[in-house]
Amino acid sequence: MAGMIDKVKGMFGNGDKLNNIVFIVFDSCRWDAYKAAHTPNLDRIGLAEQRYSYASWTSPSHYTFLMGMVPHCSPKGVFASNVYRDEFAQWSTRLNLPEVEFGKFVPQLSLPHFLKAAGYWTEGWVSLPVLNPMTSMSQHFDKYELAPSHNDISQIFDKLSFRDDKPSFFFINTGETHYPYILPGETADDLPHISGVHGVFKHLDDFLKNPSEFMEDKKNDEFFSPDQFKAFYDKQVVCVEHLDRVVGKFLERCPKNTYFMVMSDHGELFGEDGYFGHGPIFHEKVFEVFFLEGRRP
Ligand SMILES: [Zn+2]
Repeated sequence: MAGMIDKVKGMFGNGDKLNNIVFIVFDSCRWDAYKAAHTPNLDRIGLAEQRYSYASWTSPSHYTFLMGMVPHCSPKGVFASNVYRDEFAQWSTRLNLPEVEFGKFVPQLSLPHFLKAAGYWTEGWVSLPVLNPMTSMSQHFDKYELAPSHNDISQIFDKLSFRDDKPSFFFINTGETHYPYILPGETADDLPHISGVHGVFKHLDDFLKNPSEFMEDKKNDEFFSPDQFKAFYDKQVVCVEHLDRVVGKFLERCPKNTYFMVMSDHGELFGEDGYFGHGPIFHEKVFEVFFLEGRRP
């Protein structure tokens, strides 16, 4: 690692700086919802591609991100190893480090561990409780916190500060695009509360002790109407457009050598083939995601 650190110092010395990395995950954002949204700010960073998630729900998907992987293109007629190799090689451009020592990724297989060893400040902010700091996700970060709100990326941006002494890696998960698809300040009292894995564990002991008390939840198993599904989809598009504006504002205060990676962790089903949501669902709409990357415009 000493060689890489010398290299890093050398690059800072001649002004050819390593890039800051801002990695943003729009939780549950469908590919087609992203595509339908007007995203002039994100378009300036890079045009979104349709890609595929390695997983159908939040935790395993973020685990792959923290291994340095991003949504794949599902190419045919190639060995998986070649796809991984070509994808990992992109980190050289992302970091602005021509001679990345990829061998240093093993044995941890951890992007934050690798970047910290390369001289980066590593900071994570997550909005979904299933990724909270007590889980293994926080391992290897200098700082890793649960965001103050599950659906307000601007509050996360307010807490980020770029450093003069080292490049930063900011890993952000934001929930505006997650059910119930609400913007900061909005409420969704008319919609049923639907727990993710974190919430189910939290209430499982009480449920098993006295299932009848949870009969109220039965009502929540009544499925949404086609109109409600359409409204969810339309609202997810609105949430993407909101995120575009907030990212656009954040761009103004990012140093020039800031590289963005923006994507979804999985899609969402809005009634297709009888499904709602994501997780224990095998359907193409849950694996279709958007992906874009590029230097600060
Ligand atoms: Zn998710």
